[in-house]
Parts: sequence; C-alpha cells; structure tokens
Amino acid sequence: MESLKSRKLEKLPPSVRFDGRILFLTEDPALLHRQLAGEDLAWTPAIKLRDDISTDEITPAYICYYYDETLGQFPYLGLKAGSEFPVVRGSVKQGGFAVSVSGKRRGKGSSREQSPYAETMAGIRLVIAENIERIYRENCQNLGIFTSTDFSLLERLRRGEAIPLSVFTAGEGDITRGIIEYGGLFQYNLARLQGKVRVPVVATPKRPMTLAEKILARHWVTDLAADAIGVPYVKPGDEGFVRTDIRFSHEYVTPMAAIFWRDYVGQDEKVVDPGSIFFFRDHLTFLELAMTDERKAEGLLDVALELKKKQEEFAADQGIHLYGELPRLGRNMVALGSEAICHSKMLEQHALPGQIIIGSDSHTPHSGAMGCVAFGVGTTAIFNSWLTKDVRIKVPPSVLIKVVGHPPKGITAKDFMLQILRHPYVKSGKAIGKIVEYAGPAVQALSIDERATMTNMAAEVGAFTGLIQPDEKTVDFLVRERGMPRAEAEGYLDALFSDSDAEYEEVITIDAEALRPMVALPGDPGNGLFISELGKQVKVDIAYAGSCTAGKKEDMDMYARVLKEAADAGQRIHSDVKFYIQFGSQDVKRYAEGRGYLDIFRKVGAEIIEPSCGACINAGPGVSYDRETVTVSAINRNFPGRSGPGQLYLASPYTTAASALAGYITAWEPQRIESTPRTVRPAP
Ligand code: SF4
Repeated sequence: MESLKSRKLEKLPPSVRFDGRILFLTEDPALLHRQLAGEDLAWTPAIKLRDDISTDEITPAYICYYYDETLGQFPYLGLKAGSEFPVVRGSVKQGGFAVSVSGKRRGKGSSREQSPYAETMAGIRLVIAENIERIYRENCQNLGIFTSTDFSLLERLRRGEAIPLSVFTAGEGDITRGIIEYGGLFQYNLARLQGKVRVPVVATPKRPMTLAEKILARHWVTDLAADAIGVPYVKPGDEGFVRTDIRFSHEYVTPMAAIFWRDYVGQDEKVVDPGSIFFFRDHLTFLELAMTDERKAEGLLDVALELKKKQEEFAADQGIHLYGELPRLGRNMVALGSEAICHSKMLEQHALPGQIIIGSDSHTPHSGAMGCVAFGVGTTAIFNSWLTKDVRIKVPPSVLIKVVGHPPKGITAKDFMLQILRHPYVKSGKAIGKIVEYAGPAVQALSIDERATMTNMAAEVGAFTGLIQPDEKTVDFLVRERGMPRAEAEGYLDALFSDSDAEYEEVITIDAEALRPMVALPGDPGNGLFISELGKQVKVDIAYAGSCTAGKKEDMDMYARVLKEAADAGQRIHSDVKFYIQFGSQDVKRYAEGRGYLDIFRKVGAEIIEPSCGACINAGPGVSYDRETVTVSAINRNFPGRSGPGQLYLASPYTTAASALAGYITAWEPQRIESTPRTVRPAP
C-alpha cells in the first residue's frame, strides 16, 4: 500500500494518437480477408458492418480457458461474416490494428472481460461502433480501451491526427471521466489512494429507503485514503464506491485477475484483508469428463487445467482461502469434485445480513437470501477490490415483487420464479439492472434455502441483485447451520428493513394460490408454462438435479421425498432416463448422507455426483451431446447450448425427480408415482 501511495501517476495527455491500422468488422467475409492480408479499406457508409457482435464472438467460451496475454492471439475468432469465420489465431495481432470498427450493439451477451482484454492484448486501443453495450463498454474503459460512437473520427484517424481526450469523456459522469483520463480503473483507484481525485460527495437529503439502499448507504465510501465509510441516505442514480465485506471469485476469473495484480500492483505485493477474500474451484472440476476428444486433441483440457493451477498458486502466495477440488485418485487421476460451488458455500458459511458481497459470477445474488446486497462483477473490479476493498456503483432503482397467498402443495420457490420470469414486466426486460426485493407472506414462509432459489434467479431476471428482508428464519438459520449464539444472530437484523414508504419503480404481485407446477420451455427461463399447459407429453432422456440453485439441503429433501415414495413402491428411474443428482457442497452431501438419502437415490437408480457446477456449465456428467436429447433440469437457465446442444426444460426439484421416474415431464403428485410408456417425442 505504501509503495502504491508513492508510485508516480499521471493523467493521460490531453490528446491521444492511435498509431496502427483500422479494422472494419464487416458482414462481407472477403473484405475481412483483404484487411487481414494487409489492405486498408477506404471507409464509406456503404460498407455493411457487422451488428450484434457478442462477446461470445469476440472470445468464444473455450478461448476463455486462456487468462493471460495469450488471449491477444484470439480476438474475433468466433466472428461470423456471411457463413465464414475469417479471423484466425494471431491474424489481428499480426495485422497491426489499433482501431476496431463495427455496427450496432457491439459487445452484447456475456459480461466476460476476456473479450476486451483479448482485444487490447492484440493491440486494439479504440473501439468505434454505432452503439456499444453497457457492460462491454465499462469493461473497455476499466482496461483503458477508448470507446466512441462517432464515425467522423475515422477520417481524422486516417490523417494521423491526435484525438482530444475530451472526445471520449464528453457526457460522462465524474467517475467514468476520471477512469478514462487516468487510463483505466486501476490507475483511477491509485489516484484515489493517493488523494489525487475525490469521488463526488453524495449528499442525498433525508428520504425513506429500501433495505438495499440502507445497506448501500452504510457501506458508502466517503474517503478511501482516510478509510471513511457511511452516508445517511442514498437514492437511485447516486454514484460512488461501496466498501465490500466479502469478495470472491472462481477459477474462470481468478487467474486473469491474478495476472492484473502481477502486472499493475506487483508480484510480491499482498492483497488487502485476505481473510475476506475467497476462491473457488467449482466450474470446471469435471470438465475432463465432458470435453469432446476433438477439443482435448487441441490441447484445451491442458489449458483449462492451468486455470486451476494458477488459482492455487495465487491463493497460496496471498494466504487466501481456496475451496478447492477433492484430491484426484485412481489410475486416470480424474477429479472427484469440489468442496463447494461458490454461491452454496457463501450462503452456508459466510454471508451475513446487511453485508455487501461481490463475486465473479452472475448468480452472486444467491446470498441475498440472507438479507445482504450481493452482486456479480467483472475481472477488473474483482482485482481492484483486492486493493481497495470497494467497488464502483450507481444505485439502481428498486422493484418490489410480492408473492401472496398460500401456494398449493408441491409448489416451490422455483415455480414462483418461473412465474415471475414470464411476467410481462420482467419478460420485456424492464427489471434489467434493477434491485429486486422479494417480499410477501409466501416469501416469508420460505426457508432460507428456498429463498436462495429466488435471489439466485435474480440473475435470470437480469437484475443487479435480489434480496429478501432478514427475519426470524434468518436467525434460526444462523443458529442451526453456523452455531451462532441467538442473541448475536438477532443483532444482525438491526434496522434491516425497507421503510413502509420506500420508493419502488414497480410493484409486482404474484398470487401463489393460482400457481401450478411449472416448466420453462427450452431456450429461455422466461418461457414458463404450467405443466398442464404443455399440451403434449414430453419424453425425457436426462434429468439433472443439482447446481447452486438446486443442490441445497432443502432441494435434497425434495428429491428424497419423491424418490422415497418410489423406492418404497419398488419403482426405479425410468429405463430410458439417466438421472443425475449433484450436491452443491460437501456440507449438503453430508446432510443427505446423514438422512439416508444416498441409499434412497441409489435404490431408484440415480447417479450421485460430487459437488461442482458440472452439467450446469456444460462441463460435467448430465450434459447432452445432440440436439434431440431432452433434459429436465432443476438449474436456473436454459439458454441454447447451456448444458449441451439438446433441449433443456427448467423445472422444480419435485418435477425433475417425478419426471425422471415417469420418463416424461410430469408434476409430482404424492402417492401417484407411476412409470408410463412414452408415446410422443417433442419437435426438435
Ligand atoms: S452451478 Fe451453474 S449457475 Fe451456479 S455458479 Fe455454477 S455454473 Fe453458475
């Protein structure tokens, strides 16, 4: 810290020069081939630029197994022009390009920071597009890549003009302007540490606040250099930094953040407060069982295993707790699973009411079930938080989702969520980026595990985060699961509630009484239907019961409730179905073992798998390998390709287990388990 405070730091000069060529990402593959071969295109608006370039096209998922400057070999490898993929390994870097130009919605899709990092490592310093997606644009700015929607710059760049910095900062707020002027988030934070910049003071007058706003106000950083936090009030739109209580990341992100640490801070420097940082080896533990031979032959399994090694090394160097993988045993040294999925462990052991938690994963809101503000961030934000313990924020507006009435028997939090996701307000994307507070008697009646299904799936809502007011159930959980003295647990609830007149941008009410067991049709979690509305019998090939969403203790209770009834009746999983049950953590496994669930699962023929993200991230037993395979799964999202190329229906734990027994998608009806011959295949 002391060496950083005295490190020489300058703002960028008032104008910048971009020495290098301009690459137009065109629809016409021939134009791309010509540029990559050395020809500079004369710009005319008649050239049709590619729209909707996703981060998946900039860096396809398997490229994200790389985490360092090697990524500079790969930008645009997945870019489709016509029916071709014209960019090959190394071609952008070798082309000497400094500017990359495309059409509308540049950088849509996944928030992966590997995409702009690959671009910058290939030499790209300026991205020009008709419009640019928010997260990708922020990631660019954090990494020091300039962005613009002004195509008139192209002529000036051609003439070799220096471009005033003000062109890139015009219209930006103070913080973003500072990040651009200092050349990235790390440099800006260094300026904060050195007292060279002051984040504008938030002076919101007295107002009623939501639970989330109260938590954000308590954690508001007023002076980083003086270590001062807390303001009385915040309101939507306030910008600044909030102090985090916990920061965690997994093997997909930690290695790249570690590279940033080495390059920007220094290999031998120590992270601030390592006791509040956690790492997880959870996403790719079983990858070797799911990766195709073709990819293995390309060496990608070895590359992916590097992620594990790099994370382990950094954790050991820094004294950071790593929830790792179980020891590899046997002739083939195949991994046996993880200690825990990150979100499962956060909720089980670490999250507390009123905290702010950041994680390198979109389902970080899982811990909101505990009554805290938990949200996902990118690699640069995680890396910076190792230094500053804080994270940049603009207070989002809030949406209140109330679930009222008594749900019929067998209706779970997953059914609540599939109903919420098909609500027009949510389905049309109006909740994107907002804080979702779940409330109402049907939510209060849920256990903490079931509440976590709802806060976890705030990610599918597209929300900034989701949370639920902590209450007696929270206290009971802390006492029962963590052995916390009751008085201490009750102390955490102090002032943690939304004011009765707090402002919500929208209030949605869901009637639990009217719900019936639901599924979401393949393609999107918002494709929810009552099973009774399916209109046809959908046969099942795979049933998957696991993940952070559905690998908790109460999920195991639900699987066991259905399967015990079958076991007692002498029934087994349908002969055409493979049924996988995977725990969210070793704690959950011990719980299931202690209650005799493993015997029940085995008796009916389910395959039991050690904890890991596994099939949920297309990296473990339970994935599909062709388009025709039909899966019913208790996971949280079913975007195309999520768990393989097949058709994936989302459902509750009860429905998943009942369907595995029946061989087709069916709701669980106690005492009515039956194995029925299947007659209808769904349309591919
Ligand atoms: S289980 Fe699935 S949703 Fe949960 S963290 Fe892992 S990959 Fe993400």
